[in-house]
Amino acid sequence: MEILQIANIDIDIIRKDIKNIHLAVYPPIGRVRVAVPLRVTDEALRLFAISKISWIRKNQRRFLSQDRQSPREYISGESHYFLWHRYLLEVDESILTQGVELKWKTQIRLTCAPSTTLQQKESLVNEWYRSQLKEIIPELITKWEEKIGVKSNDWRVKNMTTRWGSCNILAKRIWLNLELAKKPLYAIEYVIAHELTHLLEKHHNERFKGLMDSYFPTWRSVKLELNNLM
Ligand SMILES: [Zn+2]
Repeated sequence: MEILQIANIDIDIIRKDIKNIHLAVYPPIGRVRVAVPLRVTDEALRLFAISKISWIRKNQRRFLSQDRQSPREYISGESHYFLWHRYLLEVDESILTQGVELKWKTQIRLTCAPSTTLQQKESLVNEWYRSQLKEIIPELITKWEEKIGVKSNDWRVKNMTTRWGSCNILAKRIWLNLELAKKPLYAIEYVIAHELTHLLEKHHNERFKGLMDSYFPTWRSVKLELNNLM
């Protein structure tokens, strides 16, 4: 995919045999796509995108504020996110087993006893998120360790309220926020790359930013996106 970067906004470019430029911002995270007639030059496209920045930002803000989640009740029909896809929770209290699974690519199915409290349901779902992250993360850590040229000793997942990840540099241990399970995969990769980069540079200084620029060129927009979601 061809991507145009303007003012920290990544714009997906789709070149097509059409007459006019068509710009759109899509839910849920405000991805920007522009369909462009084949004859339009890169420079003209750039100027067009620049002229639309405030419109794009206004629309992105609309989606981001809509997405702030109200407290979960763990009832059937409620929206829950996994890797940024929206699933409908289906609570089945008719059988005496307990568990969480994805079903038909549209549902997160929670099976539990009728007496299960809201907190217990929450922890069942959170444990499921944790188990999903444990399957996804090792591969991503290996990928980014290779790109950045570092090696961590350990990684763990926990609930964090103010940050997406942290890095214990001495122990070379990375902590990741459980909430990342609900975010886009590229956002999880960004947090992993960020924390691994701390093994090369402790502070968020110019050197750190330069390293991130070379390993993860879109980090600024992903960071902004994540901060809007916290
Ligand atoms: Zn950091």
